[in-house]
Amino acid sequence: MRRRRAARAHRGDLDLLTQPSEGNVLNSDFLLKLAAEYDTPLYVYDGDMAVERYRDLYRFIPYDRLKVCCAMKANYNPGLLTLLRDAGAGLDTVSPGEVHMALALGFPKERIIYTANNMTDEEFEEVLATGVLMNIGSLSRLEKIAEKHPGMRLCLRFNPDVCDGDNVKTMTGGDLTKFGILLEAVEEVKQIVRRGNLKVVGLHEHTGSGLQRCESVYRSMENLMAIAVPENFPDLEFLDFGGGFKVPYKPDEARIDYVAMGAEIARLFEAFTRRYGRRLNMLFEPGKYIFAEAGVLLTEVNTIKHNRTRVIAGCDSGFPQLIRPVLYDAYHQVRNLSNPDGKPQIYDVCGNICETGDRFAEQRELPEIREYDILAIGNAGAYCYSMGGVYNLRAMPTEVVVSGGKVTYVRERLTSEQLCGRILGEGRFL
Ligand SMILES: *Cc1c(COP(=O)(O)O)cnc(C)c1O
Repeated sequence: MRRRRAARAHRGDLDLLTQPSEGNVLNSDFLLKLAAEYDTPLYVYDGDMAVERYRDLYRFIPYDRLKVCCAMKANYNPGLLTLLRDAGAGLDTVSPGEVHMALALGFPKERIIYTANNMTDEEFEEVLATGVLMNIGSLSRLEKIAEKHPGMRLCLRFNPDVCDGDNVKTMTGGDLTKFGILLEAVEEVKQIVRRGNLKVVGLHEHTGSGLQRCESVYRSMENLMAIAVPENFPDLEFLDFGGGFKVPYKPDEARIDYVAMGAEIARLFEAFTRRYGRRLNMLFEPGKYIFAEAGVLLTEVNTIKHNRTRVIAGCDSGFPQLIRPVLYDAYHQVRNLSNPDGKPQIYDVCGNICETGDRFAEQRELPEIREYDILAIGNAGAYCYSMGGVYNLRAMPTEVVVSGGKVTYVRERLTSEQLCGRILGEGRFL
């Protein structure tokens, strides 16, 4: 509601931004049907919502040369990425594996950017051969490129010197992170670029994930734009301001007024282009904003246990399948789809992994949970499946993508036999 009012205040009567999930395909009845059909644990993605979130950025940032590259590390589901590809999206990739997957899914190489991070020489050559533009974040790699690949076109990643994020582990600016080149190294950068006759076509910064303050976005932009002058970098075609747009995870968490933020972003960039003397492209690389709210993890409760001080609802999924609560102390909403009107009680919602910390929610008030109830863990579209693993040798859940009211893509969970066979087939005894 907050956001709807904010949008009106800025742009008349239009509902500019995608509304959260009530009434869309992630409603309880539909999810329960999917759980019955595909079994649990099950990831369900609303592909149309992800596409609308991608389009939101064009609605809220009024600049005609905006390009949005979705951060593939947040969600690399082929069904979702195909919908985004058809909508015109680009991809931000962070490993050779992601670059290959993006190309295999039919993204034109011109729409892909590869942001390297502690890259090996072999990885450099592997990505170079694909023709995808590389975003280089260290002086030592830049030196090697100047020496071995004179004349190369590339983008440079700088550390914006702004600390923000939903967690210290997701802040990528400031003194405590490994990312980017320091802003004050710009003279050294220029020397290396000159020596290698390199063509710097883009400058990049990424401040962090889940940015809490609009001012952080503006300050990081200003810091990058301050070095993006023709005397330093005459060949620029774009500036890339990374991702980080947050969405609410808690029920009472405010939604950022992205219409107001978008207007300010466009204003700052227009002023920059006048100073620079050319209308450059403006890139953003959101992951969380596009994917987070478009996904849920469905899990069935199989065991209710009353310990001395805690009631435990034990599920058929676990933290390797959705690690954010354990890794970041992240809050994910839990809904009891099967008994929404049950009498509220306090639960620890635990997984099936042999670790005490294996909890999706701790001491959370929920409608009474019974064995065989289906729970929906919300905001599971970003950094959930993609961070997953098979610890305890439990296969990752099935994923389904829904678009136009229908399931359009299914990726089935491996059976125990398949998982075991795959691992045994990958190695050999010598
Ligand atoms: C992770 C990442 C993003 C996306 O961040 P979100 O918080 O998901 O929007 C964008 N760019 C780079 C370089 C990243 O590493």
